Parts: sequence; structure tokens; C-alpha cells
Amino acid sequence: MARTLMKGEKFSIKPQESASDFIRKSYLGLALVGLTLLTPFAVNNLMHGRYFLGVGAFAIIAVLAFNAWMVVRYNRYYTLLTFLGLVPAILFFLSLSMLRQGMIGVLWAYPAVLSFYFMLPERRAWIANLALIVIVFPLAWNIIEQALAMRLIATLSMVSIFSAIFIRAITEQQNKLKTQAVTDPLTGLLNRSLLHGKLDWAVAQSKRTGIPMTLISFDIDHFKSINDTFGHDVGDKVLRSVSHVFKLRFRRSDKVFRLGGEEFLLLLYDTNIEDGKQVSEEIRQSIAALKLLPDQAVTVSTGVATLRPEEDWKQWIKRSDANLYRAKTSGRNRTVA
Ligand code: GH3
Ligand code: MG
Ligand code: MG
Repeated sequence: MARTLMKGEKFSIKPQESASDFIRKSYLGLALVGLTLLTPFAVNNLMHGRYFLGVGAFAIIAVLAFNAWMVVRYNRYYTLLTFLGLVPAILFFLSLSMLRQGMIGVLWAYPAVLSFYFMLPERRAWIANLALIVIVFPLAWNIIEQALAMRLIATLSMVSIFSAIFIRAITEQQNKLKTQAVTDPLTGLLNRSLLHGKLDWAVAQSKRTGIPMTLISFDIDHFKSINDTFGHDVGDKVLRSVSHVFKLRFRRSDKVFRLGGEEFLLLLYDTNIEDGKQVSEEIRQSIAALKLLPDQAVTVSTGVATLRPEEDWKQWIKRSDANLYRAKTSGRNRTVA
């Protein structure tokens, strides 16, 4: 399949599976709380003949424990099972305790509101909390004092909103940190930290599907003398401008790394050697056409290598580096494939 460069397609470095990390960890906490705090109540209910409540509590404990086991074992859990199974179970359990025990049963509404934020993505947690309030309010209105019911809904809503704010702040902070950890601050490109993983993934993907993958190693020519002549700030500006060319030209599936100094590596998904060479040449020419320095073009040398069936990622990158080296020794400002 020929490679088409989609102009204007935004380059994205958002880490995959963001936000779920917090939820995964909180599942372990929930399971622990469920097992240690809920179990005595479940047993107590059974012993006093309140079978519905007892069995309901044990069902909730079982789902929490199952999710925790999934997290430990597979680093995944079923949000749909939680949303469609656990949430209704908790709401049912809550309604039942309110019907049977009145005000004492209502107290479970508070941990329930909180737990939804810990075990569900934000939007689903909102829906679950809305459902909780819709169910609890008429029940409370009928079985306990109406003034108390109003206050109950007000305080539940407050707990819900504060929890949402808190969880959102944590999630945003976490995403920011994750992005920072993989981003080069000067250029906004990926730093080396994901290199191994992304190349490993590309090799596995290509072996499984036969999709061609191409690497291009870039190195700015005589960058040291640019720094020496015009200063480090101008050097930094050159690095940012060159990076901008990469960002404009690459597809979402491509990955662009700044390996260090003035060296870059591009991983092109579904790209054969011919297309890779063409992309490399287009970028090289775009960079040379930038007017970054007075009376002098900034040029880059590039080495292109398309993954071979027998190669691992280290051999692959070695080949693109070797081609880059040849581009350097044969006069710079060129592509070698
Ligand atoms: P060649 O054409 O062979 O690649 O020569 P070169 O001068 O580009 O290669 P060399 O690797 O010797 O020089 C790289 C320079 O990049 C040296 C270092 O001071 C500079 N450098 C590394 N990181 C940064 C940075 O973040 N900002 C700036 N301005 N310069 C940097
Ligand atoms: Mg260089
Ligand atoms: Mg270099």
C-alpha cells in the first residue's frame, strides 16, 4: 500500500492507556476495603436471617475481588461488568438496606458515591451517581423524614461533586506527568524512553501482519559549528524548527524521537523503502529550504532502513544508523537507503 502523507493531520504524542492507571490501582484498594469492611456486615446479615442483604453484600465483594484479581493477573479489568453488573448490585443493595434499616441503611450511600469514581471512568461514574440519587431520593423521602431526605441528597451531591473534582485533578496531573516523562521539553518530540517499546512493537506488528515498517535516522549537519558561530540559543531554535517540519509531515501512526543532541529517529508505520526514501527526501529538502540562518542553509543527513524479516529492533536501527553514517561520509545533505 502506498504511503500517503496526510497534510494537516495532527501529530500526537499522547501516551496510550492514560487515565486507567489510577482506576486499576484503586481497584486493589476497593477489593481490600470490600473484603475487610464489607465481609463482617455480609456475615452479620446472613446470621440474622437478612439473606438478601447478606447475599447482595457477598456478590459485591466477589465482583470487587474478581476485578482486583484481573488487575493483578492481566493488568486489566472489566469496566462494563462493573458498570452494568456491580453498579446495579450496589444500588439494589443500598435500596434494600434503606428499606430494611431506614437511616442506618442510608449511610452506605456515601461510600457508594465515592467508590463509583474509583472503579469507573469519569462519565460512567457520573451516570452511576445520578442513578444513585434518583433511586435514593424517593426512597428517603418516603421512609425517613423529608427534611432529612433533602439534606441527604444535598450532602450526597456535594460528596459526588468534590470527588469528581478530586479525581479529575489527579487524573490530569497523572496524564501530564506521563506525557512529560516521554517528551523532550525542547522540541515536544518523544524522548528515548519509549524507543525500545515502540520499536519492539513495530517489529512484532510487522512480523504478524506483514505491514512494512521503515526507520529514518536524521542528524543535522555541522550542528556544532552552528552553535559555535551563532550561539546556543540559535542552535535551540534550529532544533525546534527542524522538529516542526517532522511534526507537520507525519501521520498519527508515525513516531518521531529526539534521540539526543541533533539526532532524530522517525518510525514510519506501513511504509516501504521507496516511500521511506521519498519521505526522507521531502523532509530533507523542506529543512534545507527553511531560512533559519543568515547566508547559510541548515541541512540534514539521513539514513533509511526498512525492517527485514529476520531482524530485531537493534539490528534494524543499526542499519538505519549505518546508512546515516554513509550519508555523512559521502558528503552530507543527502539520503542513503
Ligand atoms: P556532523 O555533520 O558530523 O553531524 O557534525 P555535528 O557538528 O552536527 O556533530 P556533533 O555530534 O559533533 O555535534 C553535535 C552538537 O550538538 C554538539 C552539542 O554541543 C550540540 N547539542 C547537543 N544538544 C544540544 C541542545 O539541546 N541545544 C543545542 N543548541 N545544541 C546541542
Ligand atoms: Mg550532526
Ligand atoms: Mg550527531
